[in-house]
Amino acid sequence: MAIEGGCHCGAIRYRIEGDPIVHALCHCSDCRRSSGAPMVGWTMYPAAALKVTRGTPKIYKSSEQGRRHFCAECSTGLFYFNDQMLPGIVDVQSATYDDPNAVPPQAHIQVAERLGWMESAHKLPTFDRYPPQS
Ligand SMILES: [Zn+2]
Ligand SMILES: [Zn+2]
Repeated sequence: MAIEGGCHCGAIRYRIEGDPIVHALCHCSDCRRSSGAPMVGWTMYPAAALKVTRGTPKIYKSSEQGRRHFCAECSTGLFYFNDQMLPGIVDVQSATYDDPNAVPPQAHIQVAERLGWMESAHKLPTFDRYPPQS
């Protein structure tokens, strides 16, 4: 399966060939702080499967070994590398796919650091757009 995706502004585009190793929703505090979102979806691939086809991501050292690649123009997070923990592997932020429904996630990880209210977030009321005006 081939996947294409990119950042919000379009300065960075990428293409992935082959099947993901796993797709996990990460609740760790590093993902939360760097994304500004309660959790981040990551699809894992052999690093060689990923080709950046437009632009050059900026690299942020988010921990001793962790390297987060993002668009310097629009700040969208894209890739994660950790040569010590995950040699030869790239994690791709799955919400940056052109079709984010293409690969459903299989697990929640790092739930030891999950926000308390995330455990029951799926029980909240839902609205197609916004709540009715009162
Ligand atoms: Zn961008
Ligand atoms: Zn994480």
